[in-house]
Amino acid sequence: MKETVRVMIPEEELNKRIKELGEQISRDYAGEEIIMIGILKGSVMFMSELAKRITIPAQFEFMRASSYGSSTESSGVVEIKLDLDHSIEGKNVLIIEDIIDTGNTLSCLQKLLRTRGPKSLKTIALLEKPARREAYDVEFDYVGFEIPDEFVVGYGLDYDQKYRNLPYVGIVEFHE
Ligand code: IMP
Ligand code: MG
Repeated sequence: MKETVRVMIPEEELNKRIKELGEQISRDYAGEEIIMIGILKGSVMFMSELAKRITIPAQFEFMRASSYGSSTESSGVVEIKLDLDHSIEGKNVLIIEDIIDTGNTLSCLQKLLRTRGPKSLKTIALLEKPARREAYDVEFDYVGFEIPDEFVVGYGLDYDQKYRNLPYVGIVEFHE
């Protein structure tokens, strides 16, 4: 089967929205410092673009979580594959996600990080698919774009580890 990618959110729109989000975060945390926790691997491109637009001091940390399942369907069971190597106690933590789909990954990460006594815990996701939510206890504070229930790639997001380096968000289309 042949795959092609159709542009859904062009680079210019992503840049414009990420700039706005960076400015909003800088205002919301004025006078404070934050720890940005990027969820590998999908959040890497979004995190680096966002970080450039944040004017308050920001530390970088990374975690990796994986949910069992096929490459396009989450199973709801989440395993932490890489954990933090610094304490977040008493710190302002901002989780950076590529996309909130079922919400299971985020729900698990939020529960775990809350047990570690951060001063505050907020979440930002570049994309959100409201139609797909399974975990109704997830809280997120900033979202770049709400998108319909389509499997998207690019700007960090993959299909079988491909397409992460596309500078836009697109929809994979399969052809015979
Ligand atoms: P959730 O746990 O179902 O919310 O999904 C979390 C993870 O699944 C995201 O961080 C992505 O890595 C992956 N994911 C969900 N939807 C998509 C998509 O449309 N394209 C690529 N990856 C996705
Ligand atoms: Mg992924």
